[in-house]
Amino acid sequence: MKINKYLKTFLVCISLVILISGCATIPTGENIAAYSIGGVTYYPLVTLCDLRGVQMQYDALLRTAYLSKDAQHVSLRVGDVLVLVNDNVRHLNFPIDVYQGTIAVPRQFKEQVFDVLFRQVVLVGRRAGKIKLHKVVIDAGHGGNDPGAIGRNGLKEKDVNLDIAKRLSSFLRVEGVQVVLTRSTDKFVSLSTRVSIANRSGADLFISIHSNANRSRSLCGFEVYYLAPSVSDSKRAVLTARSASLNLKDTVFSSDTQDLKAIVWDMIYANSRAESIELSRSLCKVMGASIDANILGVKNARFQVLKGITMPGILTEVGFVSNLNEERLLKTASYREKLAAGILEGIRDYSQDMALVEVALR
Ligand SMILES: [Zn+2]
Repeated sequence: MKINKYLKTFLVCISLVILISGCATIPTGENIAAYSIGGVTYYPLVTLCDLRGVQMQYDALLRTAYLSKDAQHVSLRVGDVLVLVNDNVRHLNFPIDVYQGTIAVPRQFKEQVFDVLFRQVVLVGRRAGKIKLHKVVIDAGHGGNDPGAIGRNGLKEKDVNLDIAKRLSSFLRVEGVQVVLTRSTDKFVSLSTRVSIANRSGADLFISIHSNANRSRSLCGFEVYYLAPSVSDSKRAVLTARSASLNLKDTVFSSDTQDLKAIVWDMIYANSRAESIELSRSLCKVMGASIDANILGVKNARFQVLKGITMPGILTEVGFVSNLNEERLLKTASYREKLAAGILEGIRDYSQDMALVEVALR
């Protein structure tokens, strides 16, 4: 969002920096640097918002920040101990402050208001362990004058894709993974630009997010397409051996495309796409367990955006905007949050499996 960008620039440049002696940075367990201002713990509001995918707008004249995500909204004013939480007044023990040019909120606000309102989604059956990846590229399909598919009730694919991409990106940042977005606003980005952004980033993984459409309005579900990876030969050999023993269930590989299994097996033996297949499989498995959607499975296609990518990557079609029920679901923030959380868990699964392969190769 443009306003957010201006806001950050404004906050950095803000001349209202209040210099308080005795400030110190305290490490926390959440990758968020906290400050001690006069013995009270404060957090930078911009970082909290970034990590939880909360939108923030700032009115410089009123010195008031407006936070919103889904149906929740909060407004808070610099220097004030009163904050407005969904139109209810809450009283803080310490005022909203400014530290190092950015708005700082006291720990009480973070724990009793922010964390309660803007919670992280916790998936049932969530696997423990960190995501063992350094950097991920997230590509929100379409944008600007290219809306992608449009549902019967007007839902535009480009908006669904961007929202899920942003949610996934904040989830990954919480896990300490660097994220590169090919677009973070509603603008047109050419496929070749997307490819060069990805290839220049030095990322470990490329995730393209799209929504589906089909003339058959009854068609619905989640599917994943994979593309050629770049893996070393020795790693490929191990992966091929592992893939050969995979139990390819019908729930993962859709039954309506009869030749798919054969094609996929061909691919596995051709050793060319093992890593991306592994990720696609993880995603479908996690999605099958976490959302109440039809899992159409792992597929292979020659999407232009996938072709030039030099890292393992996939393209997910999160659902069909052409299906009335799925269009309704995709319109809701909660379903998009679930999809983003599901993709995150798929990436976690994949990264841990890849780490195991690497250990085995040593
Ligand atoms: Zn698309």
